[in-house]
Amino acid sequence: VRVTFTPIHRREFGITGTIAVLQDVTEQEKLEASRREFVANVSHELRTPLTTIKSYTEALDDGALEDPPLASRFVSVIQNETERMIRLVTDLLHLSRLDNKEALLRKQPTDLLDMLEDVADRFSFQMRQKDIHCGILVQQGMPKALFDRDQIDQVLDNLVSNALKYTQAGGSVTMEARMAEDHVLTISLQDTGIGIPKKDLDRIFERFYRVDKARSRNMGGTGLGLSIAREIVYAHGGTISLQSELGQGTRVTFTLPPVEAQEVAK
Ligand code: ADP
Repeated sequence: VRVTFTPIHRREFGITGTIAVLQDVTEQEKLEASRREFVANVSHELRTPLTTIKSYTEALDDGALEDPPLASRFVSVIQNETERMIRLVTDLLHLSRLDNKEALLRKQPTDLLDMLEDVADRFSFQMRQKDIHCGILVQQGMPKALFDRDQIDQVLDNLVSNALKYTQAGGSVTMEARMAEDHVLTISLQDTGIGIPKKDLDRIFERFYRVDKARSRNMGGTGLGLSIAREIVYAHGGTISLQSELGQGTRVTFTLPPVEAQEVAK
């Protein structure tokens, strides 16, 4: 709490009293602290690849160019780091558009089975490479639902890409869509991967929060995937949650508003 005292002056009597203003600044300070932490994180995330690129270009300049096989390895490191920076900046722009509520939702009636099959197709190469089995379950008689297909595709892509990153070869990923009694649409994604320790679960949707920074970076992660997914689901008026058992697997579940309400909104 911030307290400010202002004396009350009366010309003929001098100071006759004091006004004390009690202001709750905890929320404001928390916001400010998280903003500072975010800027520090962004700077750090960009500085790391830039430093790598700088040292590898210096090494090329210092003679590695004379050794073509070595030069080619260095160039591919530079390419990887550049691609990671592009991904990071793209994710940041996306988040900033979602923060500014600039991302207009272009809702269209969508068939859920089609959508889940399309996600599986986009990742089929990676799944085959890692020998990961993908299951799709869609409740029978599920009506089309109304949402921004591109944005929800982004949510699914982020979740599937995590499931694949953090699941060992031979594991499985299951996507499921169902509608509850109250017509709330629930989509969940279950993997048989490494899981997330209990102590990290509360913070896992925060920007740049990762269980293992080095591992996430090596996998090409930006640490923003889950926070982007959460913003998109919130923009649709839904909820998102994550359950995980260390060494057993992770399940992410998100909901979208009742299908009937969506019809009315249309
Ligand atoms: P990243 O780009 O690091 O994957 P995310 O925001 O998508 O960033 O995820 C944050 C962190 O949550 C990851 O670094 C990882 O530690 C953990 N995580 C996310 N999804 C899973 C999953 N399916 N299994 C295990 N850990 C996960």
